[in-house]
Amino acid sequence: MLTEFELIRRFFTRDTRRAVLGVGDDCALLAVPPGRELAVTTDMLVCGVHFFADARPEWLGHKALAVNLSDLAAMGAEPRWALLALALPAADEAWVAAFASGFFSLADRYGVELIGGDTTRGPLNICITAGGELPAGSALRRDGAKAGDEVWVSGTTGDAALALAGLRHEVALAADDAIKLGERLHRPMPRVELGIALRGVASSAIDVSDGLAADLGHVLLRSGCGASVDFASLPRSAELQRCTDHAVATRCAIAGGDDYELCFTAAPEKRGSIAAISADLRLPLTMIGRIDTGQGLRVRDEAGRAVAFDGGGYEHFR
Ligand code: ADP
Ligand code: MG
Repeated sequence: MLTEFELIRRFFTRDTRRAVLGVGDDCALLAVPPGRELAVTTDMLVCGVHFFADARPEWLGHKALAVNLSDLAAMGAEPRWALLALALPAADEAWVAAFASGFFSLADRYGVELIGGDTTRGPLNICITAGGELPAGSALRRDGAKAGDEVWVSGTTGDAALALAGLRHEVALAADDAIKLGERLHRPMPRVELGIALRGVASSAIDVSDGLAADLGHVLLRSGCGASVDFASLPRSAELQRCTDHAVATRCAIAGGDDYELCFTAAPEKRGSIAAISADLRLPLTMIGRIDTGQGLRVRDEAGRAVAFDGGGYEHFR
C-alpha cells in the first residue's frame, strides 16, 4: 500500500514551467504579469451526488478538471494551473494512476500545471481549484447582458442529461446513441477556445452546468433583464432528436445539466464576428433568443405559446 507522500510524489508531482513554485512546499507561488487578471474557480465532485461509486477513474480525472476549465472558459480566461484536493477511501494504485492519466491528458491539452493540493483518507471526493489569466477588464461576466442583445449557445444541449436518463432507465436509447451521449456526460470538453475568442464580442457568458434555463436565468438575474427563447431554435444533437419520449427530450434540451456548453449574449452587430468564430473553431453557435427589459426567461414554441418544462436546474438542498 502506498503512503500519502509516495502517492503525491508518484502521481501528482511534475515539473512546473510557468508557476514560480509547484508541488512540494507549503504553498505554490504564482506570478501574474502586469496588466493581467487572475480568474479563480473551484468545483467539487462528490461520490453519490455527481458520480457513481464505480465510475471509471480516468473519466473522473478528466471530468473533475473539465468542469473547472469550463468555468474559466465562461469568463474568457486562459487556463494556467490547478490545485487538487482528494479524499480517497484507500490508496489504490491502479485507481489513482488511471485518475491521474485522465486528469493530466486534459491538463496537458490546455497547458494547465498541477501546482499543489491535499490528499486525505475519506469518502471519495474530488475538489479542484483552477486558475487562469486574462487581460485586465476583459472577463466575460454574468452581469453584462443588455436589452436588445441576442442569446447564443454553443454546440448542442441536453445530451448529457439524456445520457443520464438512459442510465436511469427513464428512456430507452439505441446502443450507439447511448455511447455517444455517454461521452458528453462522462468526458465533457470545456469550451476554452470559444471563451477566449468571445472576449470583446460577448456582453455576458455562463457555462451550461445546471441546464440552459437555470444558467441563462443566472445571467438575467445578475444583468437585471429578461429574455425570450425560441424553443424550436435550440440546437439538438441527432441522438437527442431520435429520442421518442417527447417530454424527456424537451426537458433535456432546455433544462438538462452537465453539457458544459457556453451560453452567451451579444449585440446584434456581433453576428458576423460570431459566425467567423464558429467557422474558425468548427463549433456550431446558435442564436436562440433575445434579451429584453422584462424579468426572467420565457420559452416559446413556433406558435408563440409558452413551453412547459420541469426542472429549474439542479439544486442540492431542495
Ligand atoms: P501541508 O501539510 O503543508 O498542507 P501536504 O503534506 O498536504 O502539505 O502536501 C505536501 C505537498 O504536496 C504540498 O505542496 C501540496 O500542495 C502537495 N499535494 C498534496 N496533495 C496533492 C495532490 N493530490 N495533488 C497535487 N499536489 C498535492
Ligand atoms: Mg495538506
